[in-house]
Amino acid sequence: MNQGKKMLKSAQEVIKKTGKSLGLSEEAIRRLLEPKAIHELNFSVGNKLYKSYRIQHNDSLGPYKGGIRFHAEVNRDEVQALATLMSIKCAVVGLPFGGGKGGVAVNPKELTEKELEELSRAYVRAISNFIGPEIDVPAPDVNTNSGIMAWMVDEYIKLKVKSEKLKVNGKTINKLRSAFTGKPIEKGGTLGRTEATGRGGVIILQALLAKLQQKVIQNLFRDPESKKQMLKLVQHDGSVTIAVQGFGNVGYYFAKFAAEEGFKIISASDSKGAVLVKEGLDPKETLKCKEEKGNIAGCYCVGSVCDIRYGRAVSNEDLLKLDIDVLVPAALENAINSQNMKQIKARIIVEMANGPVTEEAYEYLTRKGVVIVPDVLANSGGVSVSYLEWYQNMHSEKWSEDKVNKRLKKIMEEAFSSIWDKAVKYERFNLKRAAFEVAIERIVSNSK
Ligand code: NAD
Repeated sequence: MNQGKKMLKSAQEVIKKTGKSLGLSEEAIRRLLEPKAIHELNFSVGNKLYKSYRIQHNDSLGPYKGGIRFHAEVNRDEVQALATLMSIKCAVVGLPFGGGKGGVAVNPKELTEKELEELSRAYVRAISNFIGPEIDVPAPDVNTNSGIMAWMVDEYIKLKVKSEKLKVNGKTINKLRSAFTGKPIEKGGTLGRTEATGRGGVIILQALLAKLQQKVIQNLFRDPESKKQMLKLVQHDGSVTIAVQGFGNVGYYFAKFAAEEGFKIISASDSKGAVLVKEGLDPKETLKCKEEKGNIAGCYCVGSVCDIRYGRAVSNEDLLKLDIDVLVPAALENAINSQNMKQIKARIIVEMANGPVTEEAYEYLTRKGVVIVPDVLANSGGVSVSYLEWYQNMHSEKWSEDKVNKRLKKIMEEAFSSIWDKAVKYERFNLKRAAFEVAIERIVSNSK
């Protein structure tokens, strides 16, 4: 089974299971599984033909929302799985958005800048009739970025102004710009988007720790060993210790904001290796060092000094097995799986990447008393600030970064709170099950 098929099967299994536990009818479950629309589009740039997709999964809560990826392996199953998970994610955070996803099967690294621009514009011409501020709002994803969004939104505005004979003024342009998020600031992008996913993850971790007080732990954790471990964590004299797998956009900002909030980042990795700094590393200096060296290995940075005295190298696999309080997989899917789940010692896992803990490992670790914050909640800071970008464009407003961050905090804390309230009612505490239940209840109660 290819990776896309596996992803789709796994997303659908969770929806089916949740639907059944909520007592939904077969028909209602089918409506949650089947996308509203699957657009498969073949378009040409020069003499080359490209296969592409835009899959619109569910719009009960609002316009479809989801990124566009450029990747050689893009396929229909993968795009459908990602669109489905976007419906869940938007509903988990309580955004007025549904779920969608797009992709073009292309290796963008083989294209010149000019070819990449032509491809981006051609894809927008192919999808322009079924996207729009109140219909479907794409964003960047794998191998697409704010520069590509700038070309896309520019093409979209040109098409709409021409086809609908629109009078061009500031308000019209702003509204048309809200058809895409993740744009550069000068094209209607918002402050705070770059950092939003990492920032949102730290807000969720803080909200979780605030709830995990002694009395709650006594009630929630039956197994004496998990109870002991959790109590140790919340009664910690020093800082809560964290290991972060992946030091890209998500991992770096998570580490940076966590360190600013007093957490101790003792290990971090990139694709080439990991560092262990018992005293707690400085994320900003570590990033500077990583950029100079090309990788994180050897960057043992405490305060402004990076020196071998402060740490040692560990393998990527060893990072996952460290005896730490919080493990933050922020790189790849399936990082924690049946092969390594028995060696995981962290008490909390925050899924910042998409799908970093396999279903089997999730079940096993939850049974052992590890608290796992699911990706649909943990990494939803990004889509939440995308919503704030869309909102600003729709209302011709421009917010300060502080205002964006405050709104993000409110969105994330409210999302966490409804999921926590549901999870504490279960026999066995499970935030993923609670997140899917909250999301599906919201979608179903808004279905026409
Ligand atoms: P990125 O490309 O900026 O960073 C990925 C990082 O992972 C890099 O540091 C890379 O070196 C590292 N990495 C790759 N293979 C590794 C390995 N085997 N071991 C350790 N590190 C490894 O990507 P990103 O934007 O930070 O996204 C990371 C994950 O978060 C992805 O799963 C993505 O889908 C998900 N996500 C991202 C956002 C966002 O706003 N960027 C939002 C939601 C979810």
